[in-house]
Amino acid sequence: MTIARILARKGRDVDTVHQRHSLRDAVDKLAAKHIGALVVVDEAGALVGIISERDAVRAIATRGCDALDDEVSAYMTRDVVTAAEGEDVIAAVQRMSQGRFRHLPVIADGRLAGIISTGDAVKYRLEQMEQEQSALREYIAG
Ligand code: AMP
Repeated sequence: MTIARILARKGRDVDTVHQRHSLRDAVDKLAAKHIGALVVVDEAGALVGIISERDAVRAIATRGCDALDDEVSAYMTRDVVTAAEGEDVIAAVQRMSQGRFRHLPVIADGRLAGIISTGDAVKYRLEQMEQEQSALREYIAG
């Protein structure tokens, strides 16, 4: 199963936050959208980083609530690992596991084309396994 297959069902919308916006804006968006990470963009809408709930927790633990008034750019991860649509989901999960992060922006033709999380990958892989099992059961019964 490829990442493209997950995106075809999940959709390609990516929640973003501007790098100059405050950490509070990012945290508000994470909470409102019930998600764990936002892609950080610049004025041109280009990907310049990623900020996750873990970054926010770390920022508040070290700087206190004042961190919420700082810019997102102060706490985001700049070196973002991305994936291509054609990548196998298992390979993508392995890369996330090795890198100890749970979100993977997807790039197609040099542009942001979606995002998958380990949760998405597990959900769709389980569904696929269930379909395979029931097809096998039908085959054996028939
Ligand atoms: P997460 O597991 O997504 O909450 O992220 C854990 C840490 O990894 C945070 O510091 C994130 O900023 C960072 N991170 C999340 N996704 C990526 C990614 N695709 N590439 C690089 N770092 C990431």
